[in-house]
Amino acid sequence: MRKTIILAAVAALTSTAAMAQQNNFNYSVDRFADIEVLRYQVPEFDNLSLNQKKMVYYLTQAALQGRDILFDQNCKYNLLVRQTLEAVYTGYTGDRTSKDFQGLELYLKQVWFGNGIHHHYGMDKFVPQFSQAFFDAQVRALPADKLPLCSKSGVANVDELLTVLDRVIFDPAFLAKRVNQADGEDLILTSANNLYEGVTQKEVEDYFNALKDPNDPTPISYGLNTKVVKRDGKVVEEPYKVGGLYSRAIVNIVYWLQQAANVAENDAQRAYISKLIEFYITGSLKTFDEYSILWAEETKSDIDFINGFIESYGDPLGMTGSWESIVNFRNNKASHRTQLVSENAQWFEDHSPVDSRFKKKNVKGVSAKVITAAILAGDSYPSTPIGINLPNSNWIRAQHGSKSVSLENITDAYDEVAKGNGFNEEFAYSAAEVEMMRNHLAIADKLHTDLHECLGHASGQLLPGVDPDALKAYGSTLEEGRADLFALYYLADPKLVELGIFTDPDTYKAEYYKYLMNGLMTQLTRIEPGKNIEESHMRNRKFISEWVLEKGKKEKVVELVKRKGKTYVKVNNYPRLRELFGELLAEVQRIKSEGDFEAGRQLVEKYGVKVDPKLHAEVLKRYQGLNISPYKGFVNPLYTPVYDTNGNIIDVKISYNENYVDQMLRYSRDYSPLTK
Ligand code: ZN
Repeated sequence: MRKTIILAAVAALTSTAAMAQQNNFNYSVDRFADIEVLRYQVPEFDNLSLNQKKMVYYLTQAALQGRDILFDQNCKYNLLVRQTLEAVYTGYTGDRTSKDFQGLELYLKQVWFGNGIHHHYGMDKFVPQFSQAFFDAQVRALPADKLPLCSKSGVANVDELLTVLDRVIFDPAFLAKRVNQADGEDLILTSANNLYEGVTQKEVEDYFNALKDPNDPTPISYGLNTKVVKRDGKVVEEPYKVGGLYSRAIVNIVYWLQQAANVAENDAQRAYISKLIEFYITGSLKTFDEYSILWAEETKSDIDFINGFIESYGDPLGMTGSWESIVNFRNNKASHRTQLVSENAQWFEDHSPVDSRFKKKNVKGVSAKVITAAILAGDSYPSTPIGINLPNSNWIRAQHGSKSVSLENITDAYDEVAKGNGFNEEFAYSAAEVEMMRNHLAIADKLHTDLHECLGHASGQLLPGVDPDALKAYGSTLEEGRADLFALYYLADPKLVELGIFTDPDTYKAEYYKYLMNGLMTQLTRIEPGKNIEESHMRNRKFISEWVLEKGKKEKVVELVKRKGKTYVKVNNYPRLRELFGELLAEVQRIKSEGDFEAGRQLVEKYGVKVDPKLHAEVLKRYQGLNISPYKGFVNPLYTPVYDTNGNIIDVKISYNENYVDQMLRYSRDYSPLTK
């Protein structure tokens, strides 16, 4: 599970890492559509040992080799679109300032950012700002060997290529949405992703229900690494593995993982890398569970990574994992904070307001650390989470614990670019809230991430016999809500002051205020007029915020007030607000523990989905005046090995000079095993 950035990042700088890096580093790389591309620093990379640098380098190579997989998972035409657009873009000899060319460039930048033709967050298909006639003419002008015409792409000549792409790019009704979550529709038939083909939602659900044994205490993560299709009238799974789907990319990933295993920091780390390789070769989800256990229990190494089919937000049924990789190493100084939190995991579990039947008697190995990301790839690139908690398998989390990380160099980059953007001044109720957020939000936000990731997701237990997938399409929204509520509840606990994490007992108020401002209002800046909220994290923030607004109405705990035609969130009673968060936490935990689908559905549908069009229009107008991009993502640094005359790596250099377009074109050129 992952935590993504909440919009209103802060102005205040607190971490020493950020202090040291603020000079002369150009964080902003590119801006287009609703996107700003940033770069992040990798402080302390130069202080890693040679062996560690080599390992990071090999793992970054393994990370980049999977890029095509995600493009293809997101929609089966994505690679064809990307290749063709890149061929036109690089081969174009006409006026590069013309409206059509600029439109094509914009579209290509969006496709790179979305890892396909759909928006990474909104899931809607991008609308091209160039004409079909222009596109067709440019494609026809290219020599055939520059175009993706071959047996692999399924198109033999330029006419066939254009027949496919014209529809994919220019017909708004075709493949309109990558992941559709609309209640009551066939979520598979109406989703444009490539995780299923030729099957209905009912067929898929029947298929997996027949496989699942409700009494299995250690179930595999069904469907995690497969595409579900129909063959000879029968529903079957096609696994992603060496010799299966995406084999050419996976073979390359395995090669680089093997190099990394050779320079592993210790045997336990080598063991989990070998197990991951075994999983990629066999495609066995039992092996994946064995890998996950070895990985979760290995906490000694500085360098760590994920590489695989991990999060299932790209699947409307929440089963298939989108390919991703993040390579990182421990930030020792900042990790002290999360260690304190995780060392006290049992205390937090015991004192939470949920029914004791739903509590873990023994919270296992919640290891938490602050990390420095070294590369982002697949589903974590360019848009990236700021916190991650894995593995996702419930029984593994319960029996073997989980690893929780906060990506502090990413958060620092967000904080840097948010300085002085005027966001809080526009949306906060008064100067007092602005001041409060300036003083406390940086640390409160980090704690919220820590608590969400290392305690929130790790807390609680299912009652015996409850299907972990019982909440179906509402599962991820409710799970994210549960983790957020756990974090919100404990942010206000005197325990944090007692542990020395907060010095000011009012620190939590900054996070409470921002959370409600975001959940009730400012996250609407990410939604197009007329649309409802679909994305899990946005839904969870909304249902939590709307619920406490309604439940606290009589006592005026939280209000929406109007001033000069503008709406503001006003919090009148912070301690009572904390109690309400506690009540909702207890209810969401009950829903999860009992697998109460109907209650979960009602909570999300009633509070988390529908947008008030008037408020929405107002928020969009105010936001437009600030000229801020609502979505951000990152380019990676470039790692260059230095060799001696015998071909041994003697150092790895890091540089930050690459721009967005150059990086994307380089990745497509050097790391595109599925298109070659
Ligand atoms: Zn989460």
